[in-house]
Amino acid sequence: MAAQVTAASTTTPASTPSSSASGPAAEPELPPFGPAAALSCRECGTRYPLSPVFACLECFGPLEVAYDLPTGDPEALRKQIESGPTSIWRYAPLLPVPADVATKPNLHPGWTKLVKADNLARELGITGGLHVKDDTGNPTHSFKDRVVAIALEAARTFGLTTLSCSSTGNLAGAVGAAAARAGFRSCVFIPHDLEAGKVVMAAVYGGELVAIEGSYDDVNRFCSELIGDPIGEGWGFVNVNLRPYYGEGSKTLAYEIAEQLGWRLPDNLVIPIASGSQLTKIDKGLRELIKLGLVEDKPYKIYGAQAEGCSPVSAAFKAGHDVVRPVKPDTIAKSLAIGNPADGPYVLDIARRTGGAVEDVTDEQVVEAIKLLARTEGIFAETAGGVTVGVLKKLIETGQLDPTEETVVLNTGDGLKTLDAVAPTTGPTATIRPTLAAFREAGLA
Ligand SMILES: *Cc1c(COP(=O)(O)O)cnc(C)c1O
Ligand SMILES: [Zn+2]
Repeated sequence: MAAQVTAASTTTPASTPSSSASGPAAEPELPPFGPAAALSCRECGTRYPLSPVFACLECFGPLEVAYDLPTGDPEALRKQIESGPTSIWRYAPLLPVPADVATKPNLHPGWTKLVKADNLARELGITGGLHVKDDTGNPTHSFKDRVVAIALEAARTFGLTTLSCSSTGNLAGAVGAAAARAGFRSCVFIPHDLEAGKVVMAAVYGGELVAIEGSYDDVNRFCSELIGDPIGEGWGFVNVNLRPYYGEGSKTLAYEIAEQLGWRLPDNLVIPIASGSQLTKIDKGLRELIKLGLVEDKPYKIYGAQAEGCSPVSAAFKAGHDVVRPVKPDTIAKSLAIGNPADGPYVLDIARRTGGAVEDVTDEQVVEAIKLLARTEGIFAETAGGVTVGVLKKLIETGQLDPTEETVVLNTGDGLKTLDAVAPTTGPTATIRPTLAAFREAGLA
């Protein structure tokens, strides 16, 4: 069982550098990575000390955070979590962050609404229960604030001074905002053809924003080169050299969904796929909850959602392949437009192991689904949310998802950032002179 760290941290001044040397009365330094024990290779299991590295030296496999998770009474841990802050930091005992993380300058993301979506359920013919996990409620209106918050703490611990990323839009805004709050320099990279809402969000926090003439995959390649160059010294690319820490932020979606359901797991989760990191880490979080005894062990199915114009994982799933063949993206769901998804093979494993699937929908279906969610539940999703809701609809129509089971669908971003997707087909019912006669004439009385 982890110590009652939250109580201790409020009485401890932010760790002074001299505290460890000022005699036996001093508080011991909190472990900077909390319960995290090491980085471990997802392919060969080789372990590395917690440092800003992301690939295995033995096999080039991706590294992930390995833990010594709290053991002991799950009831005590549940109580500790429930009395924690209303942000992702209530799960600090399960994340690679110091126990006093909530006292540090950051955006305190998470603890977003889990909306019981009865109207949408009725419309889709779901009788087993449907919830929308609505991450538009995060500080920069997408799920990316979760992953950036964890990477930020790692950057602080490693003494990095510039926060950076390659982004399909939302990440750039989340990094810019987090850096502004925490006093880091930021320099973020995006493809040149993003939505205006994403570009403004990425720039407004005052950091440097660089638009690259190329696709996201070109941006990502450029960033890898920058890291290897002396220019990149002191830089924390949240989704490249800090990727193992970044990824862990997505586990908080699993924790929140389970806690908000009353500490239990749904039958099905529908999750969007860009690089696939979010989907794989939600699965990791769900498995941890079972292992810790925080929820009853029961099967769950994970479904991945892509847009047809960038559906390399869905294509591989349908073809029965283990590898993902890169594609050149062409879709309005730009936040998901990664043609060469790093975690694609792991997504395939998870969908197959849990009995789920990976599906894709056309841009037209994405727009329809955005409007469907808005009209039934009052939630305005960005294109990524249109992808997940559209895929949920398709999964039911094609008999791949059982409508008598309980399902959670993720909305990971805000429609205000992708207005262009719906603007051409959404607008005033009528434009009239300010008279009752005109209102009547327009057929609205
Ligand atoms: C980044 C992003 C995702 C998923 O990204 P992964 O790379 O798969 O973790 C989903 N939705 C939105 C809105 C995003 O910005
Ligand atoms: Zn390895």
